[in-house]
Amino acid sequence: MVKVPKEQRRYCPNCDGHTDQSVKEVTNRATGQMKKKHRKRQRKIDHGYGSFPFEDPSNRSRGGSNPTSSNKDLQFNCTECGKSWKPNNSIRAAKFEIER
Ligand SMILES: [Zn+2]
Repeated sequence: MVKVPKEQRRYCPNCDGHTDQSVKEVTNRATGQMKKKHRKRQRKIDHGYGSFPFEDPSNRSRGGSNPTSSNKDLQFNCTECGKSWKPNNSIRAAKFEIER
């Protein structure tokens, strides 16, 4: 279990200094139609390749082990400038919780 505090004092790229920031997890965001993942899936559906293209790793078959953990999509919001930013190094965990 990975617990992340909701209020953190971190570096803000916009303010170029350490400020108080709040964390939230970004979920259910619509994927872009021109992203590589979507184009690859659409190409497999159009042209056909083996069985149906399962892009969801939880539906992986034929001996592949299903991953139990996933990368969490975090977003930090600076309270001083009001802008939000996303870190390049995301947290990988099976169980994730934001403490308040
Ligand atoms: Zn800021």
